[in-house]
Amino acid sequence: MTSRKATELIHHPYVPPPGFAAPQVGVYKASTVIFPSVAALRARDWRTKSGYTYGLHGTPTTFQLEERIATLEGGKHCLLVPSGLASIACVNLALLRAGDEVLLPDNVYGPSKAMAEGELTHWGITHQLYDPMDPGDLQRKLSDRTKLVWVEAPGSVTMEFPPLAHLVQLCRQRGITTALDNTWGAGLAFNGFDLGTGARSTTGSGADIVVHALTKYPSGGGDVLMGSVVTRDDRLHEQIKLSHMRLGWGVGANDVEAVLRSLPSLVARYRAQDTSARQLAGWLRGRPEVAQVLHPALPGSPGHEHWQALCGDDGLAAGLFSIVLHERYPSARVDAFCEALALFKLGYSWGGPVSLVVPYDVHAMRPAGRWPHRGMLVRLSIGLEETDALRADLEQALRTLG
Ligand SMILES: *Cc1c(COP(=O)(O)O)cnc(C)c1O
Repeated sequence: MTSRKATELIHHPYVPPPGFAAPQVGVYKASTVIFPSVAALRARDWRTKSGYTYGLHGTPTTFQLEERIATLEGGKHCLLVPSGLASIACVNLALLRAGDEVLLPDNVYGPSKAMAEGELTHWGITHQLYDPMDPGDLQRKLSDRTKLVWVEAPGSVTMEFPPLAHLVQLCRQRGITTALDNTWGAGLAFNGFDLGTGARSTTGSGADIVVHALTKYPSGGGDVLMGSVVTRDDRLHEQIKLSHMRLGWGVGANDVEAVLRSLPSLVARYRAQDTSARQLAGWLRGRPEVAQVLHPALPGSPGHEHWQALCGDDGLAAGLFSIVLHERYPSARVDAFCEALALFKLGYSWGGPVSLVVPYDVHAMRPAGRWPHRGMLVRLSIGLEETDALRADLEQALRTLG
């Protein structure tokens, strides 16, 4: 699947201006688009993409990126928004109204939970957290008020890989819309719109909506903030698109170009970071300072069997994983370990060239949750540096733990 995607992303249809047969997409910038007549101005419909009306409704540059991201995700329609978090907001605002309830996995991307606690609560939309590793818990929490269920695989700090297809199926049986945050899978590790595996594979077994923080792998440079909302269903797309237009979300052409430029190397970068991350994760497993390595492709990690079922025995994984340090190290020592790293920089995000590290106190993040570990968690995002150099950096920093 991924090798085909690499080719599709490079040979995606694009018609260059006459006489300029370059494969790179032009950068078109405009707020105003000029119409030849009042009749043309009145007749042009921005919703169908049959013409251009105003910069906010799309340019040749944004249309190209929308089409490529739709291809990447295996969907039909794509909307671009100014960040990954905005793609979550875009879906929530388009689909939820006062009195509705939205369900989030308890290991959900943190700011998504904050949005539910803040804006959604203010607007009379309730939320509940469910345990993504326990479909029964989700099933018990679904009600007539549930209008949207978010799923994510794996949790991007604690790295549990849930039985995604099962979660989505429970919602589908009750006619409830599901939205997948596919930033980790990046459209490569699995297809968000087709979560069935092997003989059970059917179109319609996947999420209804797939959002992606293009900030991460598709940008790949650590220099762009952008998000996407992809759908297959025309009616659902129209509903989100109308809300997207009314709320005035747009993206800048230079940022779009940066993502278009990075997409051809997406598969190569994802594979390279996966390989490097797995080598480092395997090595860290043997270190006495480390109580557990949380990486869905490693046997023994929570939900490894679900990763294997969905992504395949030789499947892909993002270059992101966490380690739980031995409980004998208090948080100040773990902070010092993170600061002792030289190549790994302290910072949020992932998918860029620079390796990153963040320490997390999971007990404080998830007061009600089940979290079996006593040690501090450290999340590592593997960049594009040489694996041996990263290993040596980790080794010298681990030594400072004593
Ligand atoms: C980074 C991230 C987001 C948000 O993306 P931004 O562009 O930083 O707003 C959403 N979901 C996941 C899983 C992420 O990792």
